[in-house]
Amino acid sequence: MAKKQFKSESKRLLDLMINSIYTHKEIFLRELISNASDAIDKLCFISLTDDKVGLSREDFKIEITADKDARELIIEDNGLGMDKDDLDKNLGTIASSGSYRFKQEMEKTDDVDIIGQFGVGFYSAFMVADKVEVYTKKYGCDTAYVWTSEGADGYTVKETEKDSVGTVIKLHIKEDTENETYSEFLEQYRISELVKKYSDYIRYPIIMEMKKSKVKEETKDSDKPEYEEVFERETLNSMVPIWQRQKKDVTDEEYEKFYHDKFMAFDKPAKIITTSVEGVVTYKALLFIPSKTPFDFYTKEYKKGLQLYSSGVLIMENCEELLPDYFRFVKGVVDSQDFSLNISREVLQHDHQLKTVASTLEKKIKNELTSLLKKDRETYEGFFGEFGRQLKYGIVADYGMHKDKLKDLLMFYSSKDEKLTTLAEYCDRMREDQKYIYFATGESTQSISKLPQAEPVLSEGYEILYCTQDIDEFTLQTLQSYNDKQFRSIDSDDLGIEKKEDESEADNADDTLKFVRDALGDKVSEVIASKKLVSHPVCMTAKGGISFEMEKYFKAMQPEAGMKAERCLELNMNHPAVKTMTDLIGKDDEKAKTYAEIFYNQALLIAGLPIDDPSGYADLVSSIM
Ligand code: ADP
Repeated sequence: MAKKQFKSESKRLLDLMINSIYTHKEIFLRELISNASDAIDKLCFISLTDDKVGLSREDFKIEITADKDARELIIEDNGLGMDKDDLDKNLGTIASSGSYRFKQEMEKTDDVDIIGQFGVGFYSAFMVADKVEVYTKKYGCDTAYVWTSEGADGYTVKETEKDSVGTVIKLHIKEDTENETYSEFLEQYRISELVKKYSDYIRYPIIMEMKKSKVKEETKDSDKPEYEEVFERETLNSMVPIWQRQKKDVTDEEYEKFYHDKFMAFDKPAKIITTSVEGVVTYKALLFIPSKTPFDFYTKEYKKGLQLYSSGVLIMENCEELLPDYFRFVKGVVDSQDFSLNISREVLQHDHQLKTVASTLEKKIKNELTSLLKKDRETYEGFFGEFGRQLKYGIVADYGMHKDKLKDLLMFYSSKDEKLTTLAEYCDRMREDQKYIYFATGESTQSISKLPQAEPVLSEGYEILYCTQDIDEFTLQTLQSYNDKQFRSIDSDDLGIEKKEDESEADNADDTLKFVRDALGDKVSEVIASKKLVSHPVCMTAKGGISFEMEKYFKAMQPEAGMKAERCLELNMNHPAVKTMTDLIGKDDEKAKTYAEIFYNQALLIAGLPIDDPSGYADLVSSIM
């Protein structure tokens, strides 16, 4: 029988496993048990609608046998099983993306515990075994197969005899060496300890034949009882899903471990939410708010949703309907006896009970985030840094219909210590005479704080919200106001600040403005005497509905649309440089024009906009220096 080669990625990974120096070799058992449990989940689900399976919920189990003499550890399940194709696909290849990421992570850490997160769990068997055999028969198939491999040099698949559907994994445990012991994985106490440690919540019984020393029945009442060795089948795991247990009986570590195993996560969750509801619909839920953005979160690959169980049986891996988009980062499980087991996705979408659960969960998540913000600011800020964008999308989406639910979860940087603030906190600090909530857009807090337009607002002692993400401005525009105070861009003509009138300003302003307007032609739509500039000579503000940040955003998203903000050049008529230009008008118009060009380009630079002709600009500046 010709040996098949592993795909090259798999081969390298296998080498890594076989020669592994990792201390946590023991996790191989968890990986194999979890595969067995998944396979049972699949057949259990089929059995709900297909009588031919002939098994009911109680019949499913995982059995472990350890044979010290033969150095064999056997893990058997009566799950779905695999056919020939499955064996090739599932055990001959590793999803290349998975193994690639795995190798990358491996280089950063020697914690082998990350294996399960990459869909490479099966291979961990080679950390403790020098030969692995997989006997398997798939539900609905007549033929059984055995897959055999002694490691990196390949594997064979042959037909074999097997009566029942399911899979038997036979590991030939490595011999002990000077530095490593493997025999422990054949000891019943060690195996049962590992099952308790890693697989306690598996919802099917994990059964092992345990050798026990028992008092002989007939000597029970005598003074010298005699003992005998007996074998007893024992269920090693408690089988109570972690979400069914009382919160007080579960440690944070256990919850975290569950979160990592189940959702392929690495981070410490920002918040663990447990909830138990009795009412129109009765359910329990265990939810996790991550503290780190999953690597694929902003891609199409990321699937939002919660796992849906009905009385402990998984009925849907990813029930999208349970989470609104703006909370799509939440991971978790919902278990309710009120859902029928064989409900189809189409029916579920319109299911009234599901909607009820979704709406109570949404409130719960919102409340938990609110309390996190109040009680553990640092964690909340960390969370917001990772997922704030998602909340802002939530405000902007669906014509702003969710804005009232989400507005108090928002944070923005502000001119107050350049720290994050909530809108409520901003309003608390507002002076009584302050008409608007001011905001400014730009690339960073530093660049915004130096904008000329910020000066009049800041010098009045008012606070400015800094919009540094492209979505920020849309968010504020959608909100329109908070606590009856409108949001107002510092670019706006009407900042609600009384400016002390300066008479000299008005004198020949009109002539100067007209001159500059003519000199610049259609580069600008307007040239005005600024009411807000204090020490800077010029600034550029946007007229109409499109701001410069939006222009940049649209340029990146839809360059062909040519969406542009209308440019309004503001001149500070009291500034010496502007006065010099005014004096030049009529005497040396060419030079005055050069001034106008320079002001225009300066204003573009300050607004973070590209200038049309950088070397031309440099020449102009040089010409008057
Ligand atoms: P993962 O379980 O993360 O997908 P593994 O390398 O552990 O990655 O397993 C690869 C695949 O092999 C599984 O997805 C499953 O399809 C199949 N498989 C493994 N063990 C079993 C089993 N006991 N019964 C049925 N299929 C299995």
